[in-house]
Amino acid sequence: MKLPFVLAKRFVAGESFEEAAPKVQYLNDQNLKLTLDLLGENVKDKETVDRTVTAYIDLLNGIKKQGLLSSISIKLTMLGLDIDIDYCRDNLYQLLDVAKKQDQFVRIDMEGSPYTQLTIDMFKDAFAKYGRHVGTVLQSMLHRTLDDTRDLAELGADIRLVKGAYKEPSDIALQNMPAIREAYKECAKILLDKTPFPRFGTHDDELINWVKDYTVEKNIAKDRFELQMLYGLREDTMIELTKDGYKTRVYVPFGTDWFPYFTRRLMERKENIWFVFSTMFKK
Ligand SMILES: Cc1cc2nc3c(=O)[nH]c(=O)nc-3n(C[C@H](O)[C@H](O)[C@H](O)COP(=O)(O)OP(=O)(O)OC[C@H]3O[C@@H](n4cnc5c(N)ncnc54)[C@H](O)[C@@H]3O)c2cc1C
Repeated sequence: MKLPFVLAKRFVAGESFEEAAPKVQYLNDQNLKLTLDLLGENVKDKETVDRTVTAYIDLLNGIKKQGLLSSISIKLTMLGLDIDIDYCRDNLYQLLDVAKKQDQFVRIDMEGSPYTQLTIDMFKDAFAKYGRHVGTVLQSMLHRTLDDTRDLAELGADIRLVKGAYKEPSDIALQNMPAIREAYKECAKILLDKTPFPRFGTHDDELINWVKDYTVEKNIAKDRFELQMLYGLREDTMIELTKDGYKTRVYVPFGTDWFPYFTRRLMERKENIWFVFSTMFKK
């Protein structure tokens, strides 16, 4: 049974690009850059994957044609990682060929821990071939991430650092917020010290203020890193940060397959449940 989209509309910009377009344009008009994400994950059949690849190529072309300030994010399990690794890589490279030709950028989102090593390996191969047109994501909650951060920072990779949105067991990931925040700061230091343009995906004031203070202390300019948040959350804060001279970006998901993304938003913060109800009853 498919749930009604009204439930998700606080966090998801529309069920199609056309439906999301006015919100996308509005955010760009506020000088916020975007990452567009066509929702979907763990696709098990090639027909759906092939359709997704075409939809992503159309999206890259649409962004170019409309002059939007937007990159895209993809999930490897939407490009066939659960079916076959080489098939998934071919699909990713199809998108990256377009992105490179049109001077665009594709970020590989990070999924649950069964996919961490596969994602990093595929990112490294893609980075060797496509350089600044591809980036990925690291999750500070994983025990392995400090090592991964050092490794990818050494390459000068374009990394979005987040806490991690997937429930993981204690042998794989930190379980309490103070430890996850401390790990985030350690990774952020490495990325700020060693990579040209790190991105910080968080709504957490403690971390945002820490990044601001650390960069002042180290004399790192405001235009040498980016602060990123998710669509529907803290939009006013993003606008304020932009006015204060920080580089900002909003991650804007859209598409019909919104349920897993929507569930992760509800699980990570109880206030998000109230947001859903308040949006439902707004005209
Ligand atoms: C741009 C972006 C891309 C992401 N990409 C990925 C990805 O590829 N893979 C992945 O696993 N995860 C991804 N995530 C999700 C991420 O891992 C976290 O699950 C999510 O961001 C919640 O953590 P948080 O640090 O934002 O705040 P939380 O840990 O949820 O909250 C910490 C504190 O921050 C403050 N806060 C949080 N939300 C709000 C709010 N709406 N308003 C006011 N204060 C608030 C509160 O003080 C709260 O106590 C992404 C997140 C962002 C922002």
